[in-house]
Amino acid sequence: MPTPHDVTLIPGDGIGPEISRTVMDILEAAGAPLRWHECVGGVTALETVGEPLPPATLESIETNGVALKGPLTTPIGSGFRSVNVALRKHFDLFANVRPAVTLLPTARYPDVDLVIVRENTEGLYAGIEHFIGMENDPRAVAESVMLITRFGSRRIVRFAFEYALAHGRRLVTLVHKANILKYTQGLFLEVGREVAAEYEGRVEFDDRIVDATAMQLALDPYRFDVIVTENMFGDILSDQVAGLIGGLGFAPGANLGERAAIFEAVHGSAPDIAGRGIANPTSLLLAGCLMLDHLGEAPIAASVRDALRRTLDERAAWTPDLGGSAGTAEFGDAVIARLEEVA
Ligand code: NAD
Repeated sequence: MPTPHDVTLIPGDGIGPEISRTVMDILEAAGAPLRWHECVGGVTALETVGEPLPPATLESIETNGVALKGPLTTPIGSGFRSVNVALRKHFDLFANVRPAVTLLPTARYPDVDLVIVRENTEGLYAGIEHFIGMENDPRAVAESVMLITRFGSRRIVRFAFEYALAHGRRLVTLVHKANILKYTQGLFLEVGREVAAEYEGRVEFDDRIVDATAMQLALDPYRFDVIVTENMFGDILSDQVAGLIGGLGFAPGANLGERAAIFEAVHGSAPDIAGRGIANPTSLLLAGCLMLDHLGEAPIAASVRDALRRTLDERAAWTPDLGGSAGTAEFGDAVIARLEEVA
């Protein structure tokens, strides 16, 4: 029996516990050597220990360095900021990685296989904004600062190239708007070109303006491989590419930094269907596969993805969001049955 990896599990709110249970069952059936440390976060934590991101949860992630996280409900009107943003800031998770691979036979585009690498800490989302009052209107003008640093640009572009090398990818496309935002986006592009030169001969490089990229993704997503971009463009484009492959239910995410790696389902806590046992666990399962890749367990991740693909191809146990009538656990059992067919 190999030494298990210690990982933190935050089942999350709403449908989180239901999909987490199924994902744990599937990963166990696949033989993934994992020792789970279950922690609370979000509304579940607020209700049980009085705060949405308890120190014990942070300590567990700090110690293990790796976490799998279900969706968290952001408490409304209680003065708490998003737990996801707080985690990102606490651990300086500067890279958000969102692979988009077609698994669903009814997806709009077959055989898509690309990755968006999004800078997670800077840009317009850095949180530098204010109102300027004029005459009797205290909110006459609103201003947000797009923060782009040489340091932040270099580390995300370098991350994208290292990711490409580690995953056998051939091309990195840097997406920007340097034709209009000459300082901020210009710096991002300038630094990106410098970093690209270090990888010449090993990984191809091109750059593209964000609006043209959005159109090209809709016309011909196959021309892209790894896209690296700043925070807001990455936010928008990563949901666009999820749409190409069937929606957010098929998109896992990874938030990566030097000290920690947090893998997550990118959809929310789905309060409308919570507790009914009908949620689709695919996004969290794919996040679990990314986690296995990160832990050096790529063959196990590949076998889980293969079983998932066959479950979806055979339209076995589709959940209601896919047009079927199976429950979460039934979907999980179907994936496990396909894992066992191969074993
Ligand atoms: P949502 O993603 O929870 O739900 C949108 C729609 O998609 C709903 O109809 C829901 O039933 C459906 N859906 C989502 N996941 C599904 C799944 N796995 N299987 C089947 N159907 C699924 O978005 P929302 O309703 O805007 O947000 C609800 C809560 O989740 C909010 O508090 C929000 O802040 C939070 N949220 C968290 C994350 C995260 O933790 N990563 C992301 C987005 C939203």
